[in-house]
Amino acid sequence: MPQTRAWLTTAVLLCVAALWLGSAMAAPRDLGTGWEYRWGDSPVSADGVPTWVKPGDDDAWNAIDFPANPPGRRGQTLAWFRLSLPEGDWQDPALYITSINLIADVYLDGERLYQHGTFDDDGNGRFAGWPWHMIRLPEGFGGRQLTLRVYSDYTAIGLWGEIMLIERADLFPKLLRDALGALIVGPLCLLLALFAVGFALFQDDRRRFMPISLFALASGIMIIAESPVDQLLIDRPLLWDNLAAAGYFTLPIALGRLLEHWFADTRSRRIRRIWQFHLVYLVGALGASGLGWINLSITFPVFDVLLVLSISLLLAIIAPHLGRFDARQRAILAAFALFGALLLVDMAVAHGLLPWQRVPTSAGALAFALVIGGISLIDYAHTQRELRRLNHQLEQEVEERTHQLQQLVERLEIDSTTDPLTGLHNRRHFDECLRQESRRARSRQTPLAMAMLDIDHFKRINDGHGHAAGDRVLAGIAMALREHFRDDDEICRIGGEEFVVLLPGTGADTARERAASLMASLADRVYWHDGRMLGPVTLSCGIAAYPAHTADPMTLPDLADRALYGAKETGRNRIITAS
Ligand code: GH3
Ligand code: MG
Ligand code: MG
Repeated sequence: MPQTRAWLTTAVLLCVAALWLGSAMAAPRDLGTGWEYRWGDSPVSADGVPTWVKPGDDDAWNAIDFPANPPGRRGQTLAWFRLSLPEGDWQDPALYITSINLIADVYLDGERLYQHGTFDDDGNGRFAGWPWHMIRLPEGFGGRQLTLRVYSDYTAIGLWGEIMLIERADLFPKLLRDALGALIVGPLCLLLALFAVGFALFQDDRRRFMPISLFALASGIMIIAESPVDQLLIDRPLLWDNLAAAGYFTLPIALGRLLEHWFADTRSRRIRRIWQFHLVYLVGALGASGLGWINLSITFPVFDVLLVLSISLLLAIIAPHLGRFDARQRAILAAFALFGALLLVDMAVAHGLLPWQRVPTSAGALAFALVIGGISLIDYAHTQRELRRLNHQLEQEVEERTHQLQQLVERLEIDSTTDPLTGLHNRRHFDECLRQESRRARSRQTPLAMAMLDIDHFKRINDGHGHAAGDRVLAGIAMALREHFRDDDEICRIGGEEFVVLLPGTGADTARERAASLMASLADRVYWHDGRMLGPVTLSCGIAAYPAHTADPMTLPDLADRALYGAKETGRNRIITAS
């Protein structure tokens, strides 16, 4: 609209002028009553002017309060409205109209003053958007006839909202006042959407926060696109209406997804079907109007019917389970019901079922988004707390189990190197010990002696007194071994009744002395089993030492074993040292 664009550039100047003129300016005057209407289309006179724009022909015109939706439409798409403009003392008057359904030519007496959309030769036209209109009036308009030729294939035909005579300088502040709510709430919704996206991405909680973001985004876009100041910035009514449709048609999708999340345990599949259906509608409606197959205007009433059905269905799905819901779910349901009711009232006003008024749907959307956002945050904090508690509990359990496991490993390690009967180390431990002590003896050049001991005729004890008696003797010998060797010496049981002692830092003679002392002590030691006395028993012993008998300490077992064999061969109960 060129007038609007021009108006934008002079708006500030006019505001200053308005201040200066002060009381000289006339107060706005409502023109929402006292009109006349007529169905059909006017014949055109020879000079190309429709004859109905000229005064007269009074019988054919019918009185109507507000110039919209006259009775007896019966599918007609052309209606005419006229009004005699009032006299007044005006500086720079304009006619302000909130909206026109759908396109119109405006005449003052015989002269066309303004045009919204384009009529074809048959009197039809395409939807040209729902902008507000400012029609400049020439001097001396008072008492002259204003006539509108209106085309609409939409549910409503005629004007919508407010019609007023206003000083142009007053219009800008009025529009700002009208837009104030949207200018505050719209950006707030977008900000909320941004926060919710942030939460969804950075907290990795998509299911909870993405629908909130979508809802806030859809509401924000709808509110901003419907605000009257947009037109001052970008004079593209169809663009704004497409944006408003996108936001509006997305609302039930976001609502459905929100409810699906919050009422996941209650028929969420049906809820999903509803929002998926709306997704198809969104794409289909905007696509078809974008391709020029249909007028965007018609997608709104169809959507409204679907929205009423969807809201009712959603309530019907959820409401029966009200008893099971917790406080948060009830709060969300209450907020949803309030917002749904506001949408329904707005819809009823849009379709002329209720008298024209501004319905605070934007505030409703913001309230709903805030309730949902707030509850989600509380819920989120609660989940995080619960998670932290569980994590702590888990850590404690893991710690406890680890401790138990460590104890078990230690026990196993001991068991795997200990002989359970005597408590001495076993063969595995001996092998490891020998490797270590050999390395040490070689690197430090210290002596290392080994005594290999075997009980003489042990089989006889087993045979004569039983295996348990043999065990008792084995344990007794082990005790004697511990008594006669140092703590540094490694005493191991390496076979049934065979023992070995590794003596680090000790030569063959000292080893022999210790073995001799042990064997002497055994001479008068007896063992008791089941009240019977066993023993004394004797040992045969073979001794070998590094470096006295070998250059490789790892060969000590062979040498000591051979010496032990010699002791057995030569009558037992004796010590033989390797040569
Ligand atoms: P020698 O003087 O030649 O060594 O004769 P010995 O009877 O001591 O030797 P032999 O090798 O003939 O017999 C060893 C016996 O030790 C055979 C086996 O039953 C017994 N024995 C091996 N391990 C155990 C054990 O853990 N407990 C008991 N009670 N007896 C065992
Ligand atoms: Mg033996
Ligand atoms: Mg033996």
